[in-house]
Amino acid sequence: MIFRTRFAPSPTGPLHLGHAYSALLAHDLARSNQGQFFLRMDDIDQSRAKGHWAEQIKDDLTWLGITWDGPVWSQNARSESYTKVLQRLWDLGLLYPCSCSRADIKAAANAPQEGAPVLGLDGVVYPGTCRHIPKGTFQTDTPLRLNIKKALQDIDLKIITLTESSETSQQTAPQMIENIGDVVLLRKNMGTSYHLSIVIDDADQAITDVIRGEDLREATFIHILLQKILGLYTPNYLHHPLVRDENGKRLAKRDDARAISKYREEGLTRDDIRSMVGFDTKTLAT
Ligand code: GLU
Repeated sequence: MIFRTRFAPSPTGPLHLGHAYSALLAHDLARSNQGQFFLRMDDIDQSRAKGHWAEQIKDDLTWLGITWDGPVWSQNARSESYTKVLQRLWDLGLLYPCSCSRADIKAAANAPQEGAPVLGLDGVVYPGTCRHIPKGTFQTDTPLRLNIKKALQDIDLKIITLTESSETSQQTAPQMIENIGDVVLLRKNMGTSYHLSIVIDDADQAITDVIRGEDLREATFIHILLQKILGLYTPNYLHHPLVRDENGKRLAKRDDARAISKYREEGLTRDDIRSMVGFDTKTLAT
């Protein structure tokens, strides 16, 4: 099987050192395995994604010596594929509409009968307020949540094992119900969500190896669960350490000082960037 990987930045700000590290790692692995490397814009949040950031990202990646195969995918252009899959999940009885705000969720989770609120991927784990409300017909203008308990029962999945190159981690079905809960698969005004789009796109591009930051390790359990429900191939996952600043804080989009474009302006070379993120510039393909 040909090695296929991708880099999926959100064009909501400049590419910084952390992104450069992730992109270089994935790109170099693809090239050294005679594989393919795809570039995909995670631009489903149209209120934040900007065309000029997408252009800047492509320009910075090219400057770093990164080449990609085929056209750049825009998730925003793929809404039909996402709707089809959501409709399928709806028909399986695995989705339900929910318009609870963050404040509603916090309040419900704090209710005395609920016990201590559990913190999950997106804040407090959803306590299931809307799960039993009659569902109506499939529509995409209200957020939709996955009924995780039903999904796990229907596919009789007791455990998800995440195998990385050197370690393995696991979540059992009760752990997933408690720690992940009913995640949103269709967000308001997006017609999709990060979790749904990334899984569909990885499948449609036949990605064999997902290389991304360790902050997404927990999200991977949802992605594998979705792959199992939908009968999709599960790629290998590699979660790399995050690039941090001198205070140990992970870099964020607002860290403009670490933007690749800033380093370019200051006259640094691509090899300087490679060394800054810990690559041996002599041994890796450029
Ligand atoms: N846009 C996501 C991010 O930058 C992509 C994550 C992924 O590769 O799955 O965090």
